[in-house]
Amino acid sequence: MAAQIGVTGLAVMGANLARNLARNGYTVAVHNRSRARTDALIAEHGGEGDFVPTETMAELVGALEKPRRVLIMVKAGKPVDDVIAELVPLLDKDDIIIDAGNSHYTDTRRREAALAEKGLHFVGVGVSGGEEGALKGPSIMPGGSKKSYESLGPMLEKISAHVDGEPCCSWIGTDGAGHFVKMVHNGIEYADMQVIGEAYDLLRSGAGLEPAEQAKIFAEWNKGDLSSFLIEITAEVLGHVDAKTGKPFIDVVVDAAGMKGTGGWTVMAALELGSPVTGIGESVFARALSSQSAQRPTAQQLLAGHEVKVDLPDTFVEDVRQALYASKLVSYAQGLDMLVSAAKEYGWELDLAAIASLWRGGCIIRAALLRTITEAYRSENPPANLLFAPEFTEAIGAAVPAWRRVVATAAQLGIPAPVFSSSLAYYDGLRRERLPAALTQGLRDLFGAHTYKRVDAEGTFHTLWSGDKSEVKQD
Ligand code: NDP
Repeated sequence: MAAQIGVTGLAVMGANLARNLARNGYTVAVHNRSRARTDALIAEHGGEGDFVPTETMAELVGALEKPRRVLIMVKAGKPVDDVIAELVPLLDKDDIIIDAGNSHYTDTRRREAALAEKGLHFVGVGVSGGEEGALKGPSIMPGGSKKSYESLGPMLEKISAHVDGEPCCSWIGTDGAGHFVKMVHNGIEYADMQVIGEAYDLLRSGAGLEPAEQAKIFAEWNKGDLSSFLIEITAEVLGHVDAKTGKPFIDVVVDAAGMKGTGGWTVMAALELGSPVTGIGESVFARALSSQSAQRPTAQQLLAGHEVKVDLPDTFVEDVRQALYASKLVSYAQGLDMLVSAAKEYGWELDLAAIASLWRGGCIIRAALLRTITEAYRSENPPANLLFAPEFTEAIGAAVPAWRRVVATAAQLGIPAPVFSSSLAYYDGLRRERLPAALTQGLRDLFGAHTYKRVDAEGTFHTLWSGDKSEVKQD
């Protein structure tokens, strides 16, 4: 029997996706550049379903029913182009190439356009959930043409995570939309982890709560509106004791956070779009700062702190919880707002309700909050900004007093809380009647004749700063 889908690239993600497809009843042809991975997959998991092991790309393509579906799961970047180049001469019109790796959305746009000219469908698919998700049900964000989704969608929906009977997979939009949304998902993931880190630091360095005590606090928080995968595993990590030293695990881990790139990609894309994703940006930079191992010891010796002693309120733990919640909400609002900007720029019809819905399961940012976000965007009047949805306006408003106390306390104690504080600044910036941007405009006009608009007249104006300071209308 011809295979319904082929998977090439059988490292951990490809092998697990292939197994997921086979476990769901599909016949899966499998291939890897080096044969050993194919053999290992068949030897260890061949009994889980119908696999067709193949040795060459031609054999893989030959094993597939038409129109063919070939899923590439190799290292992002040039390897994807190499595999596409090898595949194209073997394929026929209307066949579908799927790239489910972490490709940059601009590469996906380029590849989609090039392959469309050859009559082939190219589908960039964002997959979140790590190894386990790939095997048991990830969150899946497919881009590409709507037509390709007709053929591919049912399969992807079947192997995705499900929440309330709904698949965590739906068509995102044309060309690179799927990879773009996955990228922003990862950016939000950075912010989610950073706000958790800031809460931990404030509770540890501010309130003196040991990791084991905090494990209980986070486990408790996981029962409320912060309920999420990341809060759940925070309790697990903080409760873990290092077997070698008997110390809290967290104390034996080097405090320099790594990154593979997608957070940075999100910030770069946001800069190009002019989208203020301050929470994601600060999270990326916090990781970068943590890794400045050459400068940190010198800074500890040289730079004065002048910390201020503060009596923490009895409500401090609850205050931190509320600051975390509010900052997290801002990061989601900013990430979703970035999607709106991208949709305008690239002509995508992104459905924010569908995107929030498919993030509810399978992926790293899965959280109870996403159900409420989904409902907000499914309502008759979807908000222009997530914070304008009545339930969130109310929730964040209620958190503001605690949030201000926490940010002020962090500043006094010298505990960095970049996302807590920048999220509050974003919130205040958004709601401020007058911003100092008016001064920025004045300065820009003086040194560069960049012009400005007036609050009381239409048009664009320039002041003759080096002349008689009279104002001229530019258009
Ligand atoms: P890797 O990113 O480590 O890539 C290894 C695979 O790529 C191997 O199958 C390797 O073949 C193949 N490969 C590398 N270069 C080439 C080439 N020039 N031609 C053909 N094949 C090549 O594998 P992962 O499974 O970790 O990830 C796959 C993709 O999924 C990546 O884009 C990754 O970013 C993404 N991803 C990963 C997640 C994770 O948790 N790991 C989560 C979500 C997405 P060979 O065996 O012959 O060397």
